[in-house]
Amino acid sequence: MENLSTEFESAHPQDILRWAAETYGEKLAVVTSFQITGIVTLHMLSQIAPETPVLTLDTGLLFPETYALIDTLEAKLGISITRIAPELSVVEQNQNYGVGLWEHEPALCCYLRKVLPLQKAMQSYDAWITGLRRDQSQKRASVPIVSWDEQHHAVKITPFATWTEEMLWTYIHAYELPYNPLHDRGYPSIGCLPCTRAVQAGEDKRAGRWSGHSKTECGIHFSTVGAD
Ligand code: SF4
Repeated sequence: MENLSTEFESAHPQDILRWAAETYGEKLAVVTSFQITGIVTLHMLSQIAPETPVLTLDTGLLFPETYALIDTLEAKLGISITRIAPELSVVEQNQNYGVGLWEHEPALCCYLRKVLPLQKAMQSYDAWITGLRRDQSQKRASVPIVSWDEQHHAVKITPFATWTEEMLWTYIHAYELPYNPLHDRGYPSIGCLPCTRAVQAGEDKRAGRWSGHSKTECGIHFSTVGAD
């Protein structure tokens, strides 16, 4: 797998996506939260392998703009997006764990609303496509293009690992693709509403995620054990 990953270093994402679809077929899923990488992924896949299952983790706490974007993408790209819901509704979680778990224990909240639901959903797949990029953060700077994902017992594919934010925006504008309007209001990275804020000039692109906590990842890509 390491050799394959090295081989793909200079490949175009379209070729990596084509290989993934041909290799894993219906056992391949895209998991996206509709950041700009996700938009380009969905557009390319809608042309290469439109039947590829698309999953999103619907925590019940996404921005209204994100929910609207999901509907728009389905209509514009002619795809169907599966919303994966956590076991507990937000109301039930508030009752069982206290109101606003995301404020006092965000790692547990992400575990309940993202990590566990994805682990369960991935039991039906052998491989998944993610939108991780090396230019996003120090932690993501060395993500491989193809790797074995122990957490989900599946092959993890990051076709856009080598692409930059600028390349993605060029693609989005060239094809006039819809994107989350929050990006134009200072939100480079968009997660759940209670845990995402706009960033100021000069701040890290992911500084608006879990601001005020040491946590920088939700746990589906990297372990967050010990992070608050
Ligand atoms: S991002 Fe925030 S609200 Fe969403 S699941 Fe994680 S802690 Fe909970």
